[in-house]
Amino acid sequence: MPKPETIIACPQCNWMPTGFEQDWQCTCGYTWHTFATGGQCPSCRHQWQTTQCLACSCSSPHSAWYRTTPVQWYHQISPN
Ligand SMILES: [Zn+2]
Ligand SMILES: [Zn+2]
Repeated sequence: MPKPETIIACPQCNWMPTGFEQDWQCTCGYTWHTFATGGQCPSCRHQWQTTQCLACSCSSPHSAWYRTTPVQWYHQISPN
């Protein structure tokens, strides 16, 4: 059995960040890749509890983006 892999995906629309986005902006004005720091702004050290999706613009709890069981929604997307 392979180890369960943690993936990062939007809980609302299943959009998966590539890791190269620098599009999350803090209230201090800094923009960075929020999943590189677990939702903490590297500039002012503010810990964000929610993370906005760049695809559907919904805000979800940061922890809800991390999944270890990717199978369920894979089946939904491709029924075969
Ligand atoms: Zn900040
Ligand atoms: Zn989304």
